[in-house]
Amino acid sequence: MFEDEDIEHPHEECGVFAIYAPERDVARAAYFGLYALQHRGQESAGIAVADGKAIFSFKEMGLVNQVFDEHVIASLKGHIAIGHTRYSTTGGSMICNAQPLLAADEQLGQFALAHNGNLANASALRARLLRMGQQFESTSDSEIISAMILRADGATLAERVTHVAPFLSAAYSLVLCSVSEVIAVRDPYAVRPLCLGKIDDSWIVASETCALDILGGQFVREIAPGEMLVIDGAGESGLHSFHVAEPMQRAGCLFEHIYFSRPDSQLGAGSLYSSRQRMGVALAHEFQVDADLVIAVPDSAIPAATGYAAARGIPYADGLIKNRYVGRTFIQPDQQLRERGVRLKFNALPDILRDKRVIMIDDSIVRGTTTRQLVQLLRQAGAAEVHVGVTSPPFRHPCYLGIDVAQYNELIASQHNGDVAKITQAIAADSLHYLSLDVLIEATGLPKNSFCVGCFTGTYPAPIVENEEQLPIILQNN
Ligand code: SF4
Repeated sequence: MFEDEDIEHPHEECGVFAIYAPERDVARAAYFGLYALQHRGQESAGIAVADGKAIFSFKEMGLVNQVFDEHVIASLKGHIAIGHTRYSTTGGSMICNAQPLLAADEQLGQFALAHNGNLANASALRARLLRMGQQFESTSDSEIISAMILRADGATLAERVTHVAPFLSAAYSLVLCSVSEVIAVRDPYAVRPLCLGKIDDSWIVASETCALDILGGQFVREIAPGEMLVIDGAGESGLHSFHVAEPMQRAGCLFEHIYFSRPDSQLGAGSLYSSRQRMGVALAHEFQVDADLVIAVPDSAIPAATGYAAARGIPYADGLIKNRYVGRTFIQPDQQLRERGVRLKFNALPDILRDKRVIMIDDSIVRGTTTRQLVQLLRQAGAAEVHVGVTSPPFRHPCYLGIDVAQYNELIASQHNGDVAKITQAIAADSLHYLSLDVLIEATGLPKNSFCVGCFTGTYPAPIVENEEQLPIILQNN
């Protein structure tokens, strides 16, 4: 099994991409779109291409540039493509879970589906479908959606998705294609990102705007909560918008802003780089400990650390260097090897750190293992004091909406019941400060009540439905 060396951050589970472009090499465009979304999932990658008559696909375990070569890309011909890059949790690391998923029935013909998110009612839906005789080949909840589409009424893929969407609980950002059209759907809470872009007359849908930029495309807008786009042609006349699920109070994943999405992606009020810098500035107002130097945990905390340093008037320097070539490894995920993995990933600069009172900025602390190791590394490199500033509140609860994150007993803030003094002791820092939730949300530039904050508060936008008896009556009678 693959094990990612970065255990201190929660992992995004997927990136999705779709393009409708009669004049372009769509497989190549999907390849580069997925390449830009690689940070959202490093375990498997896949592309499905449609040419008006049939769908052809290729998917494999590995990074985008390991899965595809020139020969494969050249063999995928058509004017429509959808793509997927995936990270999976333990037990899900299998080729059968790689996407896009392909399915077909006589009336509908072929379709392909790629999903970012986790359905909060996946267990109940799976149990119900199993009782109805459904057989599953994978453990992913995306196959549940595919199975429901096959069982739904409707002559076209769009009609079937319209019937299925109301039964799906968040979180889902989906791209699908039939042989002749692209469909994109976002759950009514808009938990996971999904945006619409354009390149000349062609349409692109992607998890993040960085996948548009790499192709020279323009950001048009976000897909709205509960919206389904059907794309069956180039230009405005080829784009059709429908509402397939009643929009709810918006609950975008706050962690997309803190860490997951690329800093050059636009989400809400501008680039996430600027948003993260503002988080650093906000932290500077809350966390005023005396220090000689501000450093970041590279690379993700650099915007916040530069914002913090500028606001405090304290010099910023690279005190930690990240080995950019340490990628995914085959080490087993026991604690001892994980700690060694952290040491492989970072090195400290003694000539920068020696005798300095250092503030280390990070965007989150999940298990605390990496943070404790880094504090130790800085002290060994000669730092006189090590203070830790975090641009998010204590991460106390697991995520059920599409993020691979540790369970309660592995979360350091949960283990210590949110007691910052105890967490400070556990990571062996001189002081520790977490940015408060309201201030963090203000730094995003978006309205206060537009976020999921479940991992900080334990309150999630969509209820977890495990029992099939709790499913809507219509589905129970199907
Ligand atoms: S629980 Fe946390 S990680 Fe999960 S969707 Fe909500 S904000 Fe994002």
